[in-house]
Amino acid sequence: MKRFKEALNDKNAILLVDTTLRDGEQTAGVVFSNREKLRIAKMLDNLGIHQIEAGIPVMGGDEKQVISEIASYGLQASIMAWNRANIEDVKQSLECGVDSVAISISTSDIHINHKLRTTREWVLENMTKAVAYAKQEGVYVSVNAEDASRSDLDFLIKFGREAKAAGADRLRFCDTVGVLEPFKTYEMISRLIEAIGMDVEMHTHNDFGMATANALAGVKAGARFVGVTVNGLGERAGNAALEEVAMALKCLYGVDLGVNTRDFLNLCEYVARASGRPLAVSKPIVGANTFAHESGIHADGVIKDPSTYEVFSPEEVGLQRQIIIGKHSGSKAVMLKFREYGIDLSKEEADELLALIRSVTVDMKRTLFDKELMYIYEDYLYEKKRAPEKK
Ligand code: MN
Repeated sequence: MKRFKEALNDKNAILLVDTTLRDGEQTAGVVFSNREKLRIAKMLDNLGIHQIEAGIPVMGGDEKQVISEIASYGLQASIMAWNRANIEDVKQSLECGVDSVAISISTSDIHINHKLRTTREWVLENMTKAVAYAKQEGVYVSVNAEDASRSDLDFLIKFGREAKAAGADRLRFCDTVGVLEPFKTYEMISRLIEAIGMDVEMHTHNDFGMATANALAGVKAGARFVGVTVNGLGERAGNAALEEVAMALKCLYGVDLGVNTRDFLNLCEYVARASGRPLAVSKPIVGANTFAHESGIHADGVIKDPSTYEVFSPEEVGLQRQIIIGKHSGSKAVMLKFREYGIDLSKEEADELLALIRSVTVDMKRTLFDKELMYIYEDYLYEKKRAPEKK
């Protein structure tokens, strides 16, 4: 709670709200064991996350128990529980000892008419009742406007104002079905913040591949909170990824979140295993290929100065740079690779080896392992020795 409170009082701070344990686990086919949930909560806290949305207490059983356990750790992060807009849900959360609650209700007419089958008035009434109850119990309250991005902005503003009047501390703007794009996001969030004058959290989904971009657009428009998940886990195409949002804020906006980014690979690999969703090699920030260079021109540049083709260093997120030897490699990369094995190649040798390497990689249809490079080198030396006899 300490880290959260400090950041909350710093008006310039951007706060990360991680919902891997709630929205992340809502991913179809993903279940964490309680042991994994506890481990992930601790890892997120060590990383420097401000608020951890730990789950949904009203589900009862294991879920409620593990949320209570996480809340009992006395972590630096705030521990939040998710609720529908009713007092019974909030009571279940309070029983877990969390310091914060998210109270969620739909604000779009599509949801109000077709899912809730009720009216805007009913939504406002139930939201304010639940918020007032939670505030009276002394917890921090986020009011979640579900499907906010498809809501009538005037109604959303009314909703925000009434939430604030009922005592809510922030509004979570949910792009529930992931239909935002950065320009619209910027416009909506700017107008919303100006009209309601309260803290806003971006909660974005990746249906069109823009979850991170939309989260950043929201920050630019004044949102102080960003909801994220490790590896972008979450419903359908997932949420904005913690590692992407944090590194983008750091490298592109110059915002220091105070997050220990060097632990990203560790955390992302752990969550990948726990969720049964392996990291794609091309996953931004932590994928195996993010610091792998094969093309001759790129590898040559990186060998001379990494900043030519890398925006941040691999160590910053727990990875290592790799020069991959494959079809597109150049002789400089081959020389560097062999120097790693303690072999100094001349330029001529490197060129001759490169021709052999290219033909093998085309045959194999892949890059080569270190051992295979050594076999090619041994064959090359052998042929070179025999060559004069042939003549
Ligand atoms: Mn969501």
